[in-house]
Amino acid sequence: MKRKMECFECEYPEPFSGRHSVHKYKETGLDNITLVGVEEFKCPKCGAVYFDIPKIKQLNALIADMIMKKGQVLSGAELRYLRKQMGYSTNLFGRLIAYDPKSLSRIENGHQKVTSTFDRLVRMAYATGRRDLNYNLHDFLLKNGIKYRRLELKIADGCDWEVKMAA
Ligand SMILES: [Zn+2]
Repeated sequence: MKRKMECFECEYPEPFSGRHSVHKYKETGLDNITLVGVEEFKCPKCGAVYFDIPKIKQLNALIADMIMKKGQVLSGAELRYLRKQMGYSTNLFGRLIAYDPKSLSRIENGHQKVTSTFDRLVRMAYATGRRDLNYNLHDFLLKNGIKYRRLELKIADGCDWEVKMAA
């Protein structure tokens, strides 16, 4: 299943094929996620680089799961990631958890410290907003969760995303 792609940046006429590569998944707003097995397409003429990330919904849900199970207080960026996965604007989410949207933004941007109480409030909101969680959040939180700083996720052809490394 060799796919090919055309360059959006230049006039190079030939579709080119990709190669398996590693990608820092900064599109999430998180700086500690590495994807293994994504296809990287590099234009032979201008050098423009494109990444093809398959099964992105499953990937994003898996990242949210790993954030939910984390054994440390979440960062503002991780809280923002959970909010966005729920599909809320800061205004609407502020209404849901009875929190001033401006304070919420300050926390998400790292300008205000995340308290463990606020962390739990957001996790509880996420857990009640999703019916398809395949684990019990209470169990995880009471057992202190999984401790990690960096996440590596991998995908193989025809498979789902899975956690390769959390350390
Ligand atoms: Zn090009």
